[in-house]
Amino acid sequence: MIIAFSGGVGGAKLADGLAAVLAPELLTVVVNVGDDFEHLGLRICPDLDTVMYTLAGLANPSTGWGLAGDTASFMAALERIGGETWFHLGDRDMATHVERTRLLAGMSLSEVTETFCRRLGVRHAVVPVSDDRVRTTVRTDEGLLSFQDYFVRRRCAPRVLGLTLEGADSARASERFLHAMNHPQLKAIVFCPSNPHLSIAPMLAIPQVRACLQARRVPLVAVSPIIDGNAVKGPAAKIQKELGFPVSALGVADLYKDLIDGFVLDVCDAELAPIAPMPTLVAQTLMRNPSDRRNLAEAVLEFASRLRKP
Ligand code: GDP
Ligand code: CA
Repeated sequence: MIIAFSGGVGGAKLADGLAAVLAPELLTVVVNVGDDFEHLGLRICPDLDTVMYTLAGLANPSTGWGLAGDTASFMAALERIGGETWFHLGDRDMATHVERTRLLAGMSLSEVTETFCRRLGVRHAVVPVSDDRVRTTVRTDEGLLSFQDYFVRRRCAPRVLGLTLEGADSARASERFLHAMNHPQLKAIVFCPSNPHLSIAPMLAIPQVRACLQARRVPLVAVSPIIDGNAVKGPAAKIQKELGFPVSALGVADLYKDLIDGFVLDVCDAELAPIAPMPTLVAQTLMRNPSDRRNLAEAVLEFASRLRKP
């Protein structure tokens, strides 16, 4: 049994690789909810949807988010009548948001996610890190911005001064996450190559989640989202720099050093391995296709098993 922590697009790729090599009952993907927000009267959960669509084999291959082959008639019609169009919602994708919003009146986010996963044929567990409301806010040189205002509306242009997770202090970890953490067959925990500041840190900001991780009896390994001094996609490198951390795989290793037992960095960064503050694995971490995802998943699992205490 393996637990994988994931944000959206980067994390979902490794989660997909893990799902390809592990039986359904042997993997729980724990997903960030700090990006969630209310928009057009709907509850949008970008990271949960990205993981769910990716594991269902339905994700748009060019963006990594949204549904493959989705259309944009709703957005075009909304624009015509003067609605808010800065956040793109595909026509088919809309069904997820509308139905989730309806179901949330009587169900937890965990239950809704489980229901959708079942209907979409996702057999591995996908669980929100918390069923409580937690929201990332970004302190920037242009003032305090809600996460999607920063990420989508302002396209990560403002300089980040700090991040806070509203509601984290009082949020509880989800039951399904706790169940996975307490599973007698738990063998390892993996931080997927998600944005450390925007995807992993918001989960660690929930005190119960951090406490569970600190009390773990199994190895925790993280995979670097930074390769050769750059993010594969998105603002991880920019934020790393703006917050004053070294922009390299080592800079990420440093952020996690009090928590993890092993760190996976890319073959491009092999020269950094000997100076990392924890055991490392050098692997091909760039996932361009399904077999890259599987190979990385296998390498990460093998690395974690070597770190396991006898
Ligand atoms: P988001 O929530 O959609 O922004 O996605 P995540 O936080 O899960 O992932 C974003 C991070 O994934 C970025 O920092 C990228 O550098 C990283 N990433 C994307 N694709 C890959 C890949 O193939 N390999 C590695 N190592 N990192 C990747
Ligand atoms: Ca995200």
